[in-house]
Amino acid sequence: MRLSVFFLPTLKETPAEAQIVSHRLMLRAGMIHQESAGIYSWLPLGIRVLKKIEGIIRAEQDGAGAQEILMPTIQSADIWRESGRYDDYGREMLRITDRHDREMLYGPTNEEMVTGILRDHLRSYRDLPLMLYHIQWKFRDEVRPRFGIMRGREFLMKDCYSFDLDFEGSKRAYNAMFAAYLRTFARLGLKAVPVVADPGAIGGNMSHEFHILAETGESTIFYDAAYDDLDLDMENPDIEALRGIYAAEEEKHDPADCPVPPERLKQAKGIEVGHIFYFGTKYSKSMGLTVTKADGEEITPEMGSYGIGVSRLPAAIIEASHDENGIVWPDSVAPFQVGLVNLKTNDADCLALCEDIYARLENAGIETLYDDRDERPGAKFANMDLIGLPWQLVVGPRGVKAGTVELKRRASGEKEELSLDSALARLIP
Ligand code: ATP
Ligand code: MG
Repeated sequence: MRLSVFFLPTLKETPAEAQIVSHRLMLRAGMIHQESAGIYSWLPLGIRVLKKIEGIIRAEQDGAGAQEILMPTIQSADIWRESGRYDDYGREMLRITDRHDREMLYGPTNEEMVTGILRDHLRSYRDLPLMLYHIQWKFRDEVRPRFGIMRGREFLMKDCYSFDLDFEGSKRAYNAMFAAYLRTFARLGLKAVPVVADPGAIGGNMSHEFHILAETGESTIFYDAAYDDLDLDMENPDIEALRGIYAAEEEKHDPADCPVPPERLKQAKGIEVGHIFYFGTKYSKSMGLTVTKADGEEITPEMGSYGIGVSRLPAAIIEASHDENGIVWPDSVAPFQVGLVNLKTNDADCLALCEDIYARLENAGIETLYDDRDERPGAKFANMDLIGLPWQLVVGPRGVKAGTVELKRRASGEKEELSLDSALARLIP
């Protein structure tokens, strides 16, 4: 992509309304545009990151054996009356009436709808176990939408639902999702702490939230310092060992009962990026979802739900990965891998070399943002640092004469003068 035509409305000034660094940087880098409180448009740079995140989540959900579906954003109030949540949900639910005066709503979550799908189509106990997920926009009329897309009213969520014949099956589904979440967050360049969360009315220990440690987090968590020293094998996380390490959200943390000695107990702020949750037959029972086993016994499937805050994640990643000059994207979610900077667009040799490099990178499938604008070098460098692409490849008249280019790694700031071929060899696998 040529920067001269790319729609990248960056801001020089720090927007006054943004209280936390991720919100400031997302606005300054031209990733999002506010439409109203807690409702945002995603601009080209932002949507590229969001799609990358979605792709990683999707791959790990598929890998865990979940199947993708897509349920609508607008739901009928009827199914929510069946589960009894229509009145309970209160003012967070955006209620809509259609032209026939039918009560509709913009879905804040999809337990009712997915249970309804299974009720209509589950024919045999052999169809279970089953995990279905979708990645869809939700609406919750939050009391205090803030921090940009971190706490939006309209936000993108991955929500997965498991259906099993018995508790043992549910436990397997839960563990599969637990592992998939650890892998997902690791691939996003994040260290997520799984904390024991409130299981609601069901009880038991099958409710975990995944938190990214950050000063700006809205949750308070308590955890064993042993977690900080833990070198996690994300490809094959030892879930039982991990669960053995104490970590709990504030409401679940009881100092009197805490197994961690005070000198090892840490308190921190966390950003909740995921929540997995077993709730038994809560929805299957109230909505009459049953299946007949081989021996003729009719059973009510056990369910769990597994959410990830997809549109919260770009902000969480920025909170965890930025410096005073801007965003530092992990390679896996970067909107482009390489920023190619032409320092002198009116120099024929610089121009020819840049065009050649750009074509070679594009042909190799390396996503490249090519700054071909007629701008001061200082402004170009600041812009590249702000948008945080992992690599900057800088071409200037002096280098062209010497046969070299400069390769900069955004994360470390390390710069190297290299021949064009060695620079390209670094970037093209
Ligand atoms: P929170 O405590 O942050 O309000 P929640 O407990 O209401 O979250 P869930 O219902 O478990 O959240 O939703 C699953 C995930 O969706 C959360 O872990 C979070 O990452 C994300 N999420 C929830 N509410 C919002 C929101 N208003 N804006 C962006 N992401 C959200
Ligand atoms: Mg909430």
